[in-house]
Amino acid sequence: MNMIRPLSFQIFALLLSISLISCTSPTDSDDLTIFTNGAIWDGVSDSLLTNHSLIIENGRIKEIMAIDDPGFPSRGEFIDLEGGFLIPGLINAHGHVGVALGLVGDASAHNSENVIDQLKLYARYGITSVASLGGEPIHAFLVRDNIDSAQIPMARMSVAGRVLYAETEDEAAAEVSELMAFRPDWTKLRVDDGLGRREKMSKEIYTALIAESHSHGVPLAAHIVTLEDAKGVLAAGADLIGHSIRDRAVDEELIGLMLENNVCITPTLTRELSTFVYADRPAFFDDPFFLAGVSADVVRQLEEPQVQDYFRSEEADFFRRALPLAKENMMALHKAGVTIAMGTDSGPPARFQGYFEHLEMEMMQEAGMSAMDILISATRDAARCMRFDSDRGTLESGKFADFIVLQENPFEDIRNLRSLKGVYVGGNPVNGVITP
Ligand SMILES: [Zn+2]
Repeated sequence: MNMIRPLSFQIFALLLSISLISCTSPTDSDDLTIFTNGAIWDGVSDSLLTNHSLIIENGRIKEIMAIDDPGFPSRGEFIDLEGGFLIPGLINAHGHVGVALGLVGDASAHNSENVIDQLKLYARYGITSVASLGGEPIHAFLVRDNIDSAQIPMARMSVAGRVLYAETEDEAAAEVSELMAFRPDWTKLRVDDGLGRREKMSKEIYTALIAESHSHGVPLAAHIVTLEDAKGVLAAGADLIGHSIRDRAVDEELIGLMLENNVCITPTLTRELSTFVYADRPAFFDDPFFLAGVSADVVRQLEEPQVQDYFRSEEADFFRRALPLAKENMMALHKAGVTIAMGTDSGPPARFQGYFEHLEMEMMQEAGMSAMDILISATRDAARCMRFDSDRGTLESGKFADFIVLQENPFEDIRNLRSLKGVYVGGNPVNGVITP
């Protein structure tokens, strides 16, 4: 009996110490940052949480905790949200980084400084992640691999690299394996005859490219214009439809293929807009939210008559007519349960990074999507579609502390996303946030 007593005393002491710890606070630590006094949407619930705080530690979400929870931390850095709205950082599931500088899309754009500047610009508008889907210079890979986005801070980026192209099936294998040296997050190909002006990649070739990409474990995004090509790339195993279907109404067969293969679509409505909107001076040239993120020189150039003429081509007319159809098709897919990932195709000349994501979401709202569905599309769903969801898209424990703080409730009107107060990447505040 004497042998047992010390042991049971030790157990009693241990239990006592555990209960004492939980009576104080199991979360107490000087490394915590606690965002209080606002409404929080975690990206999962269907409503805003009030009387809760977001607790972050070492750049990641620790917990969203009720302020009257007995375990609520008493130590840490407290940040007052002043009645604002805190939601996950926005994700652009289809952009292009480092491909253009101003209105020029050539080698002058290809450097790490430009890549970083563009990722900062996205972040200043609340876009904390971007899937760059093709055509980037090598510098995009260098930035992705060597710079911690949270330290700058700037948007996080995935990179696709050179857009895949081949003329034979053998070439397809070589083309993909060459690209793999850069470890692309996604690959990208185009099935598009440029409205009859060039030859379209054949089914055999794109099927081979998709199979090659999959053999390296890399998902593939397909640029398409037509319903027939969307069905073709889906049957061949494409993992993302990169644009709206712009020639005909979507049908049951397409919906069936997208649902069966669990493939998402990025509508890129602003991409269509950008093909014709500069034929005349667009209304957004007077929008302070736009002007705050663009150089005055670029705006001046787009107001020049000979530049406006460039946007009056036959191609521009096609996309002008296609835009209402693109919106209808987006809504038909959305209603059928296909996942819409907010994506803009911003980054090429005159497709303005940061601003166009807001414009895209406003166009999604005009097309009939609810603010709640758009917010899901631009956070949780975009993350899942682009395979970022292990660390992004929602404010769940362990994920990156990537979020934005707004003055106005975004569930009431998607335009309230413009009321930015703060943007955080890995818990660090972004400089130069574009405020209203
Ligand atoms: Zn694109």
